[in-house]
Amino acid sequence: MSEPLSQLEKKLTQAIAARMSLEDARKQQVDVLTQFAARLSVGCKGLDVSLDNLLAKFRSSLAKGVDFETLLPLIEQITAAIKLQEVAVVNAERELTSNIIDAGRQLQKTRGMPDDARRKLRFLLDSEVESVTTIRGFIPVINKLVEIYHQALQAKLTLADDLADAKQQQPEIAKELLALANELLFDEDVADEIKAVKHGLTETAHTDTLLDASVSIIRIVVKSIARERQTAQSFLVSLNQTLDELNQSIVSTNAQSKNINQALCSLNQQIENKIKNLNLATQSATSIVELKALVDEELQSLSKDLVARERLEQEEKAALIASFEYINDRVSQLESKVNSYKKRLTEQRFRSLLDGLTKLPNRSAFDDKYNHEFQQFNLNKAAVTLVVVDVDHFKSINDKYGHSAGDKTLQVIARALKKSIRKTDFIARYGGEEFVILMPGMPIKDASGPLEKLRKTIKSIPFKFKDEEVVITISLGATQFKEGDTPLSAFDRADDALYEAKNSGRDRLCLRE
Ligand code: GH3
Ligand code: MG
Ligand code: MG
Repeated sequence: MSEPLSQLEKKLTQAIAARMSLEDARKQQVDVLTQFAARLSVGCKGLDVSLDNLLAKFRSSLAKGVDFETLLPLIEQITAAIKLQEVAVVNAERELTSNIIDAGRQLQKTRGMPDDARRKLRFLLDSEVESVTTIRGFIPVINKLVEIYHQALQAKLTLADDLADAKQQQPEIAKELLALANELLFDEDVADEIKAVKHGLTETAHTDTLLDASVSIIRIVVKSIARERQTAQSFLVSLNQTLDELNQSIVSTNAQSKNINQALCSLNQQIENKIKNLNLATQSATSIVELKALVDEELQSLSKDLVARERLEQEEKAALIASFEYINDRVSQLESKVNSYKKRLTEQRFRSLLDGLTKLPNRSAFDDKYNHEFQQFNLNKAAVTLVVVDVDHFKSINDKYGHSAGDKTLQVIARALKKSIRKTDFIARYGGEEFVILMPGMPIKDASGPLEKLRKTIKSIPFKFKDEEVVITISLGATQFKEGDTPLSAFDRADDALYEAKNSGRDRLCLRE
């Protein structure tokens, strides 16, 4: 019994061992499956809720030790859900590609993108996007795109800042350009060009217009300078030519004179010799007849020589006269050339002191005069009144009726102002719609009468624009030179008075003693 029992026991032990190892194997399989399910869950998490749930169920079934038969339908469901995911991923990938390309093309259209960013973007859209095969592969592409966006945005922001700055400076630039255009007086043939430039110079002008205007002004100035230079050059060339001709004619006159002189010298020598010979012959002559014959002969030859000499002298005279006439002619030509050039130069100088639009002295002419009057005042202390005049709401004339109406208004006002002051007063266009008047010998207490009259004169001018009657007024600030003033302090005082006139309602005169 012991034998079969022990055998049975052995078999049982073997069976138990086999069972245990089977259970171990199964446990290991379940572990692997559980781990696989867990990894799958993590990997697919968030892709799809139903897939999440299926995987959770799968994990818990495994943990409970459900048999394969029960697990199979679950596995099939999971497989189907994953297949659906594949389709969803392919669609998402396609959508992402097209979205990225759209965004890129949009970005390509923006202006002011740095070159480097533009190049990178082109490469990204033309080759890099195409080569992406997985969703994950899009991550670097998107990163690059974001970087390019950032660069483009930065460039835009800087541009916007610059534009904002430029915009703030626009009225100032426009004013300065206008003053410049007014100060420069050009030849007739560029007047239209200048007029067109001035037209564009409103305070609301866009930066591009202002840049264009600057370029046009520079071009016109350069053209004028070139022309001036050409005139100067051709003057110098013709001056040189004339001097050359003069020199040649003097040289040839000299040469001619020299030749004639030599001929005269030898002729004189000949005459002298003949007289000497005659002298000798008369001494040695022995008879009157012989003497007579001798003298006759010698006299004949002598008179021939004298005629020749006379002719030579005449020739020399004529040559000299001709040459002097020629020289005279050239010199007077030269003189007239020099004179016309001198005139041109003084005109040029004079011009730069005149304002082109109103033909009144300009700011720099005023500065000269002002400093001169100031020095005079320091020497003789005679009263001088200084007046600053500014047209009221002038900008609205430009705005409502156009720039050339504004220009005409300024011309009319300038003429009226000029006509209304004394001969000894000095008026200048200080800039824009501002004028200055210097009244030497006029104490300020006596100035308000004539200045009020001036104000009313301007107010009564019947301006008419677009069939609309318009009253234009001016504000005036006046002061007189005081002991201890500087040119600047006196001007500031007049300016303060003008400021007061503006602030207290315009169309008035304010005085500062
Ligand atoms: P306020 O009464 O305060 O002086 O007002 P305003 O409009 O006269 O003064 P503001 O200084 O604001 O404007 C002056 C205007 O004068 C702006 C500028 O366009 C215009 N202006 C300056 N020079 C000229 C010019 O030569 N021709 C024309 N048409 N306009 C000019
Ligand atoms: Mg003004
Ligand atoms: Mg004004």
